[in-house]
Amino acid sequence: MINIKNKELVDKYPFLAFKEYDYDTHSYYVPDDYDYDYTWFDSIPDGWRIAFGEQLCQELKEALDEFDYADKYIIVQIKEKFGYLRIYDNGIPVGCKVHDIIRKYEDISEKTCIGCGKPATKISLGWICPWCDDCAAKIGGQFEAINEI
Ligand SMILES: [Zn+2]
Repeated sequence: MINIKNKELVDKYPFLAFKEYDYDTHSYYVPDDYDYDYTWFDSIPDGWRIAFGEQLCQELKEALDEFDYADKYIIVQIKEKFGYLRIYDNGIPVGCKVHDIIRKYEDISEKTCIGCGKPATKISLGWICPWCDDCAAKIGGQFEAINEI
C-alpha cells in the first residue's frame, strides 16, 4: 500500500524521498518498492513540521530548481540537536542558497515550540529544546526562560 499523502509530498519535493545508494553507478536512487511509508518530512520534529515544514521544503525546492537539482539533492539526516533543527546533506551546487535557507530555519527552530509549533518561551534543561508555556506545563521538568531580544 502506497501512502498517498507522502507520495504527493515527494512528487512535489523529490528530495524528501528515502533513497538508496547504488555502488555500481555511484549514485542514489529511489527503490522500485518504495512505499512512501516514511519520508524525510517525518524526521522533522512535530512542532517544527507544523510551524514551517512545508515552507522550508518550498524554499529549498526553489533554490534547488535554479540549478535543476531538486531530484539530485541528497538529504543524509534530519534531526534536532541542542535545540536546533539540523539538516545534513551530500552537498549542493556552487552558488546554491540551500545552506543559507537551512541556517535561517535553524534560527527559527530555536524559537519555535518543538511540541506544537507555537512561539517558544522556554528552553528545557537537560535535553535542550524550545517549548511554549502549554507544552512545558504538560511535559514538566526544569526550564529556562528564553530571553527576549
Ligand atoms: Zn507547544
